[in-house]
Amino acid sequence: DRSPSAESKPRILLMGLRRSGKSSIQKVVFHKMSPNETLFLESTNKIVKDDISNSSFVQFQIWDFPGQIDFFDPTFDSEMIFGGCGALIFVIDAQDDYMEALAKLHMTVSRAYKVNPNIKFEVFIHKVDGLSDDHKIETQRDIHQRANDDLADAGLEAIHLSFYLTSIYDHSIFEAFSKVVQKLIPQLPTLENLLNILISNSGIEKAFLFDVVSKIYIATDSSPVDMQSYELCCDMIDVVIDVSCIYGLKDGEGSCYDKESSSIIKLNNATILYLREVNRFLALVCILREDNFDRQGIIDYNFHCFRQAIQEVFEVRFKAQNLGANLQSS
Ligand code: GDP
Repeated sequence: DRSPSAESKPRILLMGLRRSGKSSIQKVVFHKMSPNETLFLESTNKIVKDDISNSSFVQFQIWDFPGQIDFFDPTFDSEMIFGGCGALIFVIDAQDDYMEALAKLHMTVSRAYKVNPNIKFEVFIHKVDGLSDDHKIETQRDIHQRANDDLADAGLEAIHLSFYLTSIYDHSIFEAFSKVVQKLIPQLPTLENLLNILISNSGIEKAFLFDVVSKIYIATDSSPVDMQSYELCCDMIDVVIDVSCIYGLKDGEGSCYDKESSSIIKLNNATILYLREVNRFLALVCILREDNFDRQGIIDYNFHCFRQAIQEVFEVRFKAQNLGANLQSS
């Protein structure tokens, strides 16, 4: 697994105490498991490397750690594990007493930082579906305060932690994962710029560039994201893929998502959802007013230019990666 191509993938580590929800997150986000099914998941007791790069644009591995791993065990190779890691997500069960989790977070983060100071540290305050809104804010404040105090006491103020309130029972887990993944995409500013140009020239209100399999959005234009719009777009992807799987396959072969994939959904409030295939993994999903859709010709022309630009952005990346691989093997 140490081939150049595997090494060049940004890697996300998912860690946290046993039963904090790690396997559930992985199954719901990347394997389309419904949240209720996670009740029957067996607890993780080994490192799970889940390489999703064949189905998803987002090339990373999730290493699901068992809660009781001992960093001081000599067989635990922290150089190898943290060395190539782009982001470390630490999951804390907000419905449980989190003192032990905080101690573990501190130990993990300080250890990982020593090996690799470039890691992005992301804390998921998870299972917040069981908490009232006030309780959510209070829990986040408390965890934030304690975690940063622990770091300050250890002289590790340089470590930055980001916090997210998450649950597998709504879209918050996808939203949080989107933010985590976006930090690892070097082309993000270019993608945002392209989306801004596209929407301003096409009368579109909001546009997301989605990884279809995971429903993570890898970029959006710079207008603020409201959860409702994001949820609508996620739901649209589900509808398109489901309908396409049932009715769209030739001879029962091939994929539910291909070059021809596109869809228009008219909502009853004079709004349109518009989805277009961008490449094997990505789709553009837009929200626009019905009147502006009269000019579909312009939108389609602009989309064509956008698609071309995206292709070029990622070609540069793939060329650079191949070059890297060649250099390493020669
Ligand atoms: P792991 O040991 O960290 O991999 O934890 P699991 O993924 O096995 O999850 C432990 C339990 O937490 C399971 O019964 C899940 O159904 C439950 N769980 C996971 N995520 C959530 C969540 O967002 N909300 C709630 N209420 N329960 C969750």
